[in-house]
Amino acid sequence: MAEKRDYYEVLGVNKNATDEEIKKAYRKLAKKYHPDANPDNKKEAEAKFKEVNEAYENLSDPQKRQMYDQFGHNGPQGFGGAGGSGFYSQGFDGFNMGDFGDLGDIFSSFFGGGFGTSGRTSRTKTESSKGASLRYDIEITLEEAFLGVEKEISFNREETCSTCHGTGAKPGSKVETCSTCHGTGQITQVQTTILGQMQTTRTCPHCHGEGKVITEYCETCRGKGKVRKAAKIKVKIPAGIDDGQTVILRGEGAAGNKGGEKGDLFITVHLKKHNLYTRKENNVYCEIPVTITQATLGANLEIPMVDGSKEYCKIPEGTQTGTKFRIKGKGFKNPNSNYSGDFIFTVIVKTPKKLTKEQRELIEELAKTMNEQPPVRKKGIFG
Ligand SMILES: [Zn+2]
Ligand SMILES: [Zn+2]
Repeated sequence: MAEKRDYYEVLGVNKNATDEEIKKAYRKLAKKYHPDANPDNKKEAEAKFKEVNEAYENLSDPQKRQMYDQFGHNGPQGFGGAGGSGFYSQGFDGFNMGDFGDLGDIFSSFFGGGFGTSGRTSRTKTESSKGASLRYDIEITLEEAFLGVEKEISFNREETCSTCHGTGAKPGSKVETCSTCHGTGQITQVQTTILGQMQTTRTCPHCHGEGKVITEYCETCRGKGKVRKAAKIKVKIPAGIDDGQTVILRGEGAAGNKGGEKGDLFITVHLKKHNLYTRKENNVYCEIPVTITQATLGANLEIPMVDGSKEYCKIPEGTQTGTKFRIKGKGFKNPNSNYSGDFIFTVIVKTPKKLTKEQRELIEELAKTMNEQPPVRKKGIFG
């Protein structure tokens, strides 16, 4: 799409046009560009029609018009033209407007979302709501997970605008009681429509249910009441946390709307791969290399624990490669109980690749006493 045209230009009115002038200009153009009235160049007409609708949607609403006058097309989201296209499909797909004859008040009453649905509040702007929850992924080492760690994380979140304290009004500017609804935030209308007479209570389109009208918007947040800011916070990650588990920080998410509570921050922990240890549930697994003599004669092995300490563990004579040993309670703590997993290591017998002359002679001596190949048993190869 080409550069967005000025709304006043689209409707062909000047900036001081009255509501009546805007309405008149809109009706004229809406008739002219209605797709049904332009069967030969429907596509182009449709684009024009949408443009006209959007301009009217924004200029017919005093609050949106003022926002537009102050900020142009770059006003905060939520005041943009989405309503215009929404209206378009509702108005013309749901209803067959036929020859597009006398539009009357039916047409304009579709605007503002109050169309036909008695008692329904089309906007939730007045209701305070909880801020968005945010998710953050963090990677830590196995050692950090074992001992617990405090990490500082940086991210962006919406915070209450400190200039206007979330009101969206420029400090010192007047906030007036809405003249359309007299501060109630709702208006009730009895309309004669093509469906018959209908009483409609809808959110006041002037103040969007606030009951108050901001006369000048806060420049910092452009009326939104919130601004995106870089946040830096410290997170305590408890000892024993496992890959994929989440630490929840209540109230560290995005600011709420209209005084609503803040959202939460969900920090999902990922464990880096370790070159020595692996973790399964709360147990730690690792491989410990031993020499053929340690395996043959038995030994007291020094085993490095995840927290950096050492444990001693005796292996008996004749230990086969692949044998597993368990050191109880030296695995990961369960963060929700006092229970700890075990440390399980597998002995791997390393056959020497290089021998000194003396070692070679000794092994040869040994070989003379046991130079027969051990019997091959069907299961023996695997265990
Ligand atoms: Zn502000
Ligand atoms: Zn109002």
